[in-house]
Amino acid sequence: MEKRNTNILIIGAGPSGMVAAGYLQKHGIDCLVIEKNEFPRFTIGESLLPKSMENFKEAGLLSALQKEGFQKKFGARFIKERKIGEFDFAQKFDKGWDWTWQAPRADFDMALAEENIRKGVKILFNTEVKKVEFESKRSRTEVLQKNGTKLQITANFIIDASGNGRVLANQLGLNATPKVTGNSSIFTHIKETGRPRGKEGELITFEVINTKTWFWYIPFSNGNTSLGFVGNNNWFSQFSNDNTKAFKTMLKKLDYYNGRFEDYPFLFEPVKLPNIAKGVKRLFGEGYVLTGNSAQFLDPIFSSGVAFATESGLKAAKLALKQLQGENVDWQIDYADYMENGTRVFSSYVKEWYTGNLQKLFFYDSPKQEIKEQICAVLAGYVWDRKNPFVKNHRRIIKNVAKMIDQENLKI
Ligand SMILES: Cc1cc2nc3c(=O)[nH]c(=O)nc-3n(C[C@H](O)[C@H](O)[C@H](O)COP(=O)(O)OP(=O)(O)OC[C@H]3O[C@@H](n4cnc5c(N)ncnc54)[C@H](O)[C@@H]3O)c2cc1C
Repeated sequence: MEKRNTNILIIGAGPSGMVAAGYLQKHGIDCLVIEKNEFPRFTIGESLLPKSMENFKEAGLLSALQKEGFQKKFGARFIKERKIGEFDFAQKFDKGWDWTWQAPRADFDMALAEENIRKGVKILFNTEVKKVEFESKRSRTEVLQKNGTKLQITANFIIDASGNGRVLANQLGLNATPKVTGNSSIFTHIKETGRPRGKEGELITFEVINTKTWFWYIPFSNGNTSLGFVGNNNWFSQFSNDNTKAFKTMLKKLDYYNGRFEDYPFLFEPVKLPNIAKGVKRLFGEGYVLTGNSAQFLDPIFSSGVAFATESGLKAAKLALKQLQGENVDWQIDYADYMENGTRVFSSYVKEWYTGNLQKLFFYDSPKQEIKEQICAVLAGYVWDRKNPFVKNHRRIIKNVAKMIDQENLKI
């Protein structure tokens, strides 16, 4: 078996792995990325949050992405029974970025990988991590290439950014019940030739079907549009097992978008994913760290997946670099606690979305601008700023404001 050695082994070339690799390459650290698939490859997670722009910039990947002409995303619209809750990232509590992109991930992830390769990052595509063994802090990883070749890679440190591959979580028995459970999703793309011009054909929109079920509309700059439904597993069980039939029946349940997509053939058979949330018991151990979806995933309602994937990828790379330079790193405080703080805020928002409390705030007739801006900062991914009351008091504040709306004694 051929043997290789690297300082840092990164599993997975999604946004988490690519931001980690970009940062390490920029700081002259030898790293090797192992990616199971050939790129470009389809994956879901097409609407980003402004916070992730900071991470792409720090990893040296932003200017390459800017050349791609992806659809810019300046905010998001939520619709329920014709009521509209719209958020503009320019009007938020935190300064930060006020725009980002919505993009087909095959092209987006390809652009990230190509930029890293151009700068000298080594990525082995079509290569799957099969087994990892740790000996003290060093690791020995067995990988299998599509052509049948086996390699053994020794590394000082592993960043596991394998997404739903969940390489180390599966191997080390780290899987745990996620913070949000019981949701499934189904999605596809169409070529929307009759797309309306302007905002109506550009703005990402979430249509609420009922408190626990919603639909996404994500138009891309290449003329394709992503459509998807998310709801609890029970809601899905009423539809056909044939995903195309099921998706067509679901489209008929839409109100605002009723009839708009029915004439378009699906570009691929709708993909159904059950139990989309993921969790782990531990985010790091001797010689490794879990980043992005290989660590955890909550729910797509606020498009937080890539923001967390890049935030954790960048944080992990920074700490790994420090460690390599001989500095002491407290992975619990500097990584796990930091990531958990952000995840907790989002999980409150996700939970309160599905209880209906957050929906009361979003669709309230006369919202108070100050509150809207504080919520908007969270929706833009700025979930670590404890100066924002909607971050600091995330556990109670949504419930409390919803209660006041119920009592109709607050103009929020
Ligand atoms: C229905 C749904 C909708 C979503 N919508 C959004 C959204 O709108 N916005 C958003 O930000 N997020 C969204 N997400 C979440 C988003 O998909 C993820 O958070 C994001 O892709 C995570 O990035 P990552 O880099 O961690 O993993 P990935 O992008 O999944 O990359 C992991 C890579 O690892 C590779 N890999 C896996 N196993 C191995 C192995 N054994 N060896 C080598 N390589 C391996 C895979 O091939 C893959 O390329 C959604 C998720 C779901 C389920």
